[in-house]
Amino acid sequence: MKVSCWYNNKDIRIEEIATPAPGPKEMLVKVMSCGICGSDVVEWYRLPRAPLVQGHEIGGQVVSVGTDVKKYHPGDRVFIAPKVPCGKCSYCLNGHHPQCTEIKERLPGGFAEYILVPEILVERGTYLLPEKITCDQSTFIEPLACVVRAQRLARVKKGQSVLIIGCGMAGLLHVKLARAKGCKVIAADINKTKLEFASRLGADSAIDATNNFSERLVAENGQKADVVFLCAAADSAVEQAWKCIDKGGMIVLFAVPAPDKKVVVPINDFWMKEITILTSYYCGPPDITEAMNLLESGRITVDDLVTHRLRLTDIAKGFQLVSEGRESIKVIIKPHE
Ligand SMILES: [Zn+2]
Ligand SMILES: [Zn+2]
Repeated sequence: MKVSCWYNNKDIRIEEIATPAPGPKEMLVKVMSCGICGSDVVEWYRLPRAPLVQGHEIGGQVVSVGTDVKKYHPGDRVFIAPKVPCGKCSYCLNGHHPQCTEIKERLPGGFAEYILVPEILVERGTYLLPEKITCDQSTFIEPLACVVRAQRLARVKKGQSVLIIGCGMAGLLHVKLARAKGCKVIAADINKTKLEFASRLGADSAIDATNNFSERLVAENGQKADVVFLCAAADSAVEQAWKCIDKGGMIVLFAVPAPDKKVVVPINDFWMKEITILTSYYCGPPDITEAMNLLESGRITVDDLVTHRLRLTDIAKGFQLVSEGRESIKVIIKPHE
């Protein structure tokens, strides 16, 4: 079978490996769709594990199951989480599933024709796709789950004004979810195409973020934002987030600058204004369930975010599109087309 092996964003090789056969408690899944995540192209984040087969936004179909697997059958359409937390450690019990220290096995990367699903993920990381969720839509489950978690932690509620800085795929999912919750949504980006997307998808206003835009935010919104989601990694974006938050507000760092960057926080000002800075990294099982419910019920639609579908052999182009981030939102790899 073919897999795509990532060495860095400019060196991605299609390699041929033997198609694995499932052991008694494993199963083999045919990858129908796998999304390229914004985090896949962040080299400082991924390089420590390179070379590797990436791809954690999956929609697939079970091909064969081990003799002990009773829950799933060939032909079942599934989403599989990239890893599962133990549910028992203190981090899990406190809702910090992404911090679980007991995670030992991960799903092999989905930029491949097939994936061998390890026992723990067959047991607790596999979700049957309801009829209403296509394999392409399944690639949104994990990113939407991350967005669901961030908005839950930020206690986003109806009537609040929510500013989203950075309108790539994750930022636009934030736009959609905040809209669905009845918030007033303001989207900001330096890219015109993405601002048009944000407006079309329901943002109440879309602001060009090229320069200091906090004044324009106040002019359009009447006040600064109650909640700011930072979905861009540029240093300048962080400073804009600081400037755009209202008193008593919440700033959520959904994306962050690279590890060698230092961020200056105006902490005295934030103390007096009672501003909270929150981080949100990844998601947990309750968020995956919630994301699937949102997709199945149609409360969140995602087909309008897909800009490119590419064959596995064209994956290098996909990585280029996502890392440039100019004309693409969601790029889906289709290993069997
Ligand atoms: Zn992701
Ligand atoms: Zn745990």
